[in-house]
Amino acid sequence: MQIISSSTEITAISQKACSAQQRIGFVPTMGALHAGHISLVRAARAQSDIVMVSIFVNPLQFGPKEDFSKYPRALERDCALLAAEKVDYVFTPSVEEIYPQGASTWVTVEGITDRLDGRSRPDHFRGVSTVVAKLFHIVQPDLAFFGQKDAAQAAIIQKMVRDLNFDVRIVVCPIVREPDGLAMSSRNAYLDATQRKQATVLYRALMRVQTLADQGERDSGKLLAEGKQVIAEEPAVRLDYFEIVDRNTLEPVAETSGGALVAVAAYVGETRLIDNIVLPDPE
Ligand code: AMP
Repeated sequence: MQIISSSTEITAISQKACSAQQRIGFVPTMGALHAGHISLVRAARAQSDIVMVSIFVNPLQFGPKEDFSKYPRALERDCALLAAEKVDYVFTPSVEEIYPQGASTWVTVEGITDRLDGRSRPDHFRGVSTVVAKLFHIVQPDLAFFGQKDAAQAAIIQKMVRDLNFDVRIVVCPIVREPDGLAMSSRNAYLDATQRKQATVLYRALMRVQTLADQGERDSGKLLAEGKQVIAEEPAVRLDYFEIVDRNTLEPVAETSGGALVAVAAYVGETRLIDNIVLPDPE
């Protein structure tokens, strides 16, 4: 496994692989890797000849009061995990490598980025789409792997790829959870033991919605009321949003049908956590 921090070097490797008809699978991450990230790496390994993983904590997607400086960084450990997964290249650019002084171009996906997390985190998704567009240009992958954990991000990246004719196939992989249901996240490291227990309320609320939907309830309002009730039973947890939306447009839907996305975001102490499920089409 090679660790490379230069964009031109990664692009040269990618172009050589392309000439040799090798399929490149790419997994963009911010590091502090866990089993969720590793599931994407394994999917990439299974579907590609060459696997490239980027580790870059992207300052553009953090708000001024968010956790950019304290975001967990564990490069050595991450690289050991990736080597064990037989990753071919790890791309670890500096902030200056990705955003040279004077860079002032943004990629903005309009409309959809104002919904869910985009509503509570203004400019977050513009930071995500800008860095992912740049990484796609640098890495030139055939396939790129994203987690359903960040459902809004996956929908936005898919739209960006369509809108801007990126020649890459997006593969969205299922959420990997802890045994008690908590969705794995690098930010779970911020939680103390009490908060760690409280955090499971997100999954419990989603499961309540799932159970009611399984029993035939399709009214989003009723499903959301029940889900919110579960969150309210854990007063230390502050709800940001609980919504049922179309999984592609992220627009709220009054009735669950066609694979509706049930998405929740909440603060446990200072830590903002997100989670979601997709309700199967009742038809
Ligand atoms: P991050 O390092 O948080 O930017 O995440 C990098 C990628 O891993 C994103 O596509 C995430 O959606 C994905 N990811 C994060 N947590 C999980 C999880 N629990 N299960 C599956 N994928 C995940």
